[in-house]
Amino acid sequence: MQTSKESDVSGIFKEYEDKKSGEKVFLVRDFIEVRIPLSHYRKLEKRYPKEYIVSIAEPRKVISHVTKRELVVVTRESGIPLLGHAAFGLIDRGTNLIQVRCVTGCNLNCIFCSVDEGRRSRTRAADYLVEPEYLAEKLKEIAEFKGKGVEAHIDGQGEPLLYPYMEELLERISRIKEVEVISMQTNGTLLNDDRIDMLEKYVTRINLSISALDQKKASRLAGIKYPLSRVLENAKMIAESKMDLLIAPVWVPGYNDDEIEKIIRFALEIGAGKRYPPLGIQKYIPYRYGRKLKNVMSFREFYDRLVEWEKEYGVKLILRPEDFGMEKRPRIPQPIRKGERFRARLIAEGRMFGEKLAVVRDRVVTVRTDRKVGDFATFEIVRTHDGIFLAEEV
Ligand code: SF4
Repeated sequence: MQTSKESDVSGIFKEYEDKKSGEKVFLVRDFIEVRIPLSHYRKLEKRYPKEYIVSIAEPRKVISHVTKRELVVVTRESGIPLLGHAAFGLIDRGTNLIQVRCVTGCNLNCIFCSVDEGRRSRTRAADYLVEPEYLAEKLKEIAEFKGKGVEAHIDGQGEPLLYPYMEELLERISRIKEVEVISMQTNGTLLNDDRIDMLEKYVTRINLSISALDQKKASRLAGIKYPLSRVLENAKMIAESKMDLLIAPVWVPGYNDDEIEKIIRFALEIGAGKRYPPLGIQKYIPYRYGRKLKNVMSFREFYDRLVEWEKEYGVKLILRPEDFGMEKRPRIPQPIRKGERFRARLIAEGRMFGEKLAVVRDRVVTVRTDRKVGDFATFEIVRTHDGIFLAEEV
């Protein structure tokens, strides 16, 4: 809660006092909250400039301004590798597409969210923000290993456009010669003319999630008052830009059954899909750690409807990786095997409650444990799929 007048010190951070929590708050780039106990801050301000206090002063809490969860800032100096985690860094699933995950956290609270994101999340304990230079350098290394024709796909557990260093990241990625396509997922709510102009300089395709054209239904699905008209305007602007637009609704039975056909018509009307398909309709799937709804449609029913709409609208709706130029490529070698045991220090909070991060052979490993950051733990690797490592304490 902000209780004193906010002031903008340098254009990069704002500051205010939170009297309720007794903290001095610096809000960096409208995303990172650095919170310092007021009594401690009073002493520091007499001796140090604010820039120094924001960067270095301890004790401090760093939290996401959007979700209010602890924010782990992943820099080269943090010692946290960028391979091995599903929520941040880079994911190589054995193709020419590399997933680039620069930030977690979301400004929406979709009732169908597969990663239980947003401020109302009950399972996510921490968020991550990766330094752009560190991320781009690691991507370059992987892109060189993969060879020509790499797609850097910016997605994540949350809304990528919350990332406060997006232009810097895109600029760095665009200089990697093996990267021929940069694509991005977004819920579109944070876009405006200026940001679309910025994205147009670097991005080939935007996958925009719109799951209803009816205001009430859209808000019900998003879990907040959803800015529908702004998102639809943004969709039109993207379609008119040099970028390709793919509209990606999630079909949630009982919530937006009548909306999907309207979205197909809207996508075709505004000219989505130039080089790529205009629509990527997804079926709601209840995931173990995602939000769960009662009604689940069978794959049979889902694909039958897509086939009908394909005929009716003359548009490709059942998509394959080849439609996006995806092809198999050798994977970055995995240095960790299932069943191996390690002892290491827990270096940061985990993404979910009951998890911490550890480092093994230049990979980040999620360890299920109740120990604290800084403690040592002995653990066994129980999952290695797609180079994402999960371990149980033993
Ligand atoms: S926009 Fe995406 S990440 Fe955000 S809450 Fe909705 S489904 Fe989850």
